[in-house]
Amino acid sequence: MHNSAFEHEKITTTSSRPGQVWLVGAGPGDPDLITVKALNVLRAADVVIYDRLIAGDLLNYCPPQSIKLYVGKQRSRHSVPQSQINQLLVEYAQSGKKVVRLKGGDPFIFGRGGEEMMALRAHGVQVDIVPGITAASGCAAATGIPLTHRDHAGAVSLMTAHRCDGATDCDWASLTADRQRTLVFYMGLAQAQHISTELILHGLPGNTPAALISKGSTTQQKAVSCTVETLAKAATQEGLTSPCLIMVGSVVQLADPARITPASLTHLEQATAVCPE
Ligand code: SAH
Repeated sequence: MHNSAFEHEKITTTSSRPGQVWLVGAGPGDPDLITVKALNVLRAADVVIYDRLIAGDLLNYCPPQSIKLYVGKQRSRHSVPQSQINQLLVEYAQSGKKVVRLKGGDPFIFGRGGEEMMALRAHGVQVDIVPGITAASGCAAATGIPLTHRDHAGAVSLMTAHRCDGATDCDWASLTADRQRTLVFYMGLAQAQHISTELILHGLPGNTPAALISKGSTTQQKAVSCTVETLAKAATQEGLTSPCLIMVGSVVQLADPARITPASLTHLEQATAVCPE
């Protein structure tokens, strides 16, 4: 029988060897969208350090005696500082434990996986990466929006909207230069107005199709379609909460109508009509 690399690792790891860290992608929210390799790693973990966006059910795969530490955002408090998370990973690994750092989506896409990997390498700790389905792929599948399509888009850009403001703003001119490109903004709900304004300012037609997908791939998914021009209004629609992804581009037209609804903007337009500026 074929042994996965991880099973091999399990057999050869002894307590005299230093521990190891696996940076593991948990997928976009649907617990079924985790890889077999990630499950194998979870099943053998001594310590699991996990984030807010992972499906809680996945922790049931960890051994009952494993240590489970939540380091995501608390309701009223900030998340555990990154330096402290790095330190936890290093210390548990150096004490000989098999440590799983479980993250939403893919650990290398806006997941600070790169920072953690570098911190572990700097301490000589062996670190392996188990990829996950990133939110863009998960949300695309859940709404029937192909991120690329020969007739619509030959490129995709994944951006964090956190940089889309102030000194580190995106290069809007380059983003809008290629009309055959799908744009996916992570962490963009609060930046919807800015994204819409900048895209239009840099020449993207206001009627370019757009979509907002909240809690994509989960049972609480809410997905609305709109245009770049109506993006900010659509973002205020009830039920659109974080985590939410913004997709822009011609491919949005191909969405499955049973899985996405046009943003209902009429009540907002009426409100504007009765309250002239
Ligand atoms: N590493 C993750 C991204 C972490 S950044 C990945 O690869 O998916 C967090 C952002 O990801 C959120 O603000 C949101 O924009 C996006 N996101 C994560 N899960 C999502 C989901 N189920 N639905 C919509 N957006 C999601």
